[in-house]
Amino acid sequence: MKNGRCPECKHQRILELPSIPDQTGSHADAKLGAKVVPEFLQGPDPVVGQFSATICLGCGFTQWWTKDPEELLKQNLPGAQLITGPDQGPYR
Ligand SMILES: [Zn+2]
Repeated sequence: MKNGRCPECKHQRILELPSIPDQTGSHADAKLGAKVVPEFLQGPDPVVGQFSATICLGCGFTQWWTKDPEELLKQNLPGAQLITGPDQGPYR
């Protein structure tokens, strides 16, 4: 939808949210992401794989996006599995 068009309803007004706030209330400015770095290791950005979203204003269809997705491979993410597709030769 980052091209400004909803794949579901073809609407052409898309809202991009740069971050998704945590809704738990314990940390009002916390952002959702794939992993929160332990407090003693935190730098300026405590969230790895911070989520953002694009939302169609016509139908509400929402896509989630992850910042720096390759960084997630360096993290211990319980239950996470890397799924790779088949190699693609020169002919498709
Ligand atoms: Zn839509």
